[in-house]
Amino acid sequence: MNEFVERKIALTWRAPKRAYDVVIVGGGGHGLATAYYLATRHGITNVAVLERNYIGSGNSGRNTTIIRANYGIPEAVRFYQRSVDLYASLESETGRGIMHRQKGLLWLAHSEAGVRAERARAEVNVAFGTKTEFVDPDQVKRICPQIDITGGGLWPVAGGTYHPEGSTARHDRVVWAFAEGAMRQGVDIQQGIRVHSLRVEGDRVTGVETDQGPISAGVVLSAAGGHVTTLVSTAGVRLPIRTHPLQAFVTNHYALEFPIIVASATLLFYASQTARGEMLMGAEIDRQPSYSYRSSHDFLQHCAFRAMTLLPFLRNLRILRQWTGVCDMSPDYSPIMGKTGIDGLLITTGWGTWGFKAIPAAGEQLAQLIATGATPELIAPFSLDRFARDRTMADRGSAGTH
Ligand SMILES: Cc1cc2nc3c(=O)[nH]c(=O)nc-3n(C[C@H](O)[C@H](O)[C@H](O)COP(=O)(O)OP(=O)(O)OC[C@H]3O[C@@H](n4cnc5c(N)ncnc54)[C@H](O)[C@@H]3O)c2cc1C
Repeated sequence: MNEFVERKIALTWRAPKRAYDVVIVGGGGHGLATAYYLATRHGITNVAVLERNYIGSGNSGRNTTIIRANYGIPEAVRFYQRSVDLYASLESETGRGIMHRQKGLLWLAHSEAGVRAERARAEVNVAFGTKTEFVDPDQVKRICPQIDITGGGLWPVAGGTYHPEGSTARHDRVVWAFAEGAMRQGVDIQQGIRVHSLRVEGDRVTGVETDQGPISAGVVLSAAGGHVTTLVSTAGVRLPIRTHPLQAFVTNHYALEFPIIVASATLLFYASQTARGEMLMGAEIDRQPSYSYRSSHDFLQHCAFRAMTLLPFLRNLRILRQWTGVCDMSPDYSPIMGKTGIDGLLITTGWGTWGFKAIPAAGEQLAQLIATGATPELIAPFSLDRFARDRTMADRGSAGTH
């Protein structure tokens, strides 16, 4: 917890109790949003969020903050649009500034196949409630004059899609807004408590074992980010998740305004400008599965080269900082939310490289599942049993990282 949070945010820290109605493992955006919506929408406040480090220390405080709903399959478009809508009203709902800014997003294609894919994306988006339009190279240039549409002679822009609702929000402020809102209602948020294992009796979860002793719970939600497989394996649940590092970096201040978010699914990089004027960039996951938070020069070199190809002004900037998070990647590049087959044990995972944008909608829907016992229709397609039922939600082309 940094100085800003201690001084500016009204959080009341208490010692953990020995039993709760709901225990949430992981104080990232997903765990905290679920706690917030449980308290504010359903009046369920006998809830603990257990965080081994400090809240927002995982990927929720390490991401590149892009929010969008321009996915490639109907179920995802509807789900992410709900999150885009919730983000737009989060400041007024919580009374906290999250620095939400709608900027618009350009998703570029560099081949005939890419153009076909983007035309299809625009059709699916409009059909299922998201604003996306196909744009030709001239329109790309008009929307973002800094783009070299010849792609440095290597990757000419052949077209793309424009998604006006693409936006960004300050990631740690989102975490703090949900944390403060939940605590104000009586939720316990505990930092510095590591959950070692889940307690299961018969086919029912009964609580968690922590480094500060056992805690009983009627419901346990795993929101442990890249560490989910090791946690739920202690209850005998095997997940189709692989953990991969994902890196990002920022440059020094760019004097001009760069008002849009740009992504290229072929070049595998995306860029936006932070409120401080830095250019913020990310790319694809590291190929080797790992829990390592180590950043590499190799990543910087490759990502910066591709980014400069499309945005030549970047050549004049210097890289200031680089960092890494570890991502829970699912095989179909879609999230996994809901029941696990063990009574009372729920998961929210498979958020990979795309879960920041989903925090409000996933939290809202999982809170409803916990409160009612029934899986809401919006997240039913993303249940774990889809893999056994051969109903995977393949949407790799929308991850922006492959
Ligand atoms: C570099 C990078 C860029 C990204 N860019 C974007 C983007 O632009 N847009 C987007 O939508 N998504 C993006 N993402 C993905 C997004 O950040 C994640 O999907 C999202 O933050 C996941 O939130 P979470 O709450 O599930 O996990 P986390 O924020 O990782 O939280 C999990 C928490 O659980 C805690 N924990 C783990 N194990 C235990 C345990 N045993 N006991 C107690 N606590 C435990 C961890 O300490 C952690 O704080 C990016 C990710 C990275 C790394």
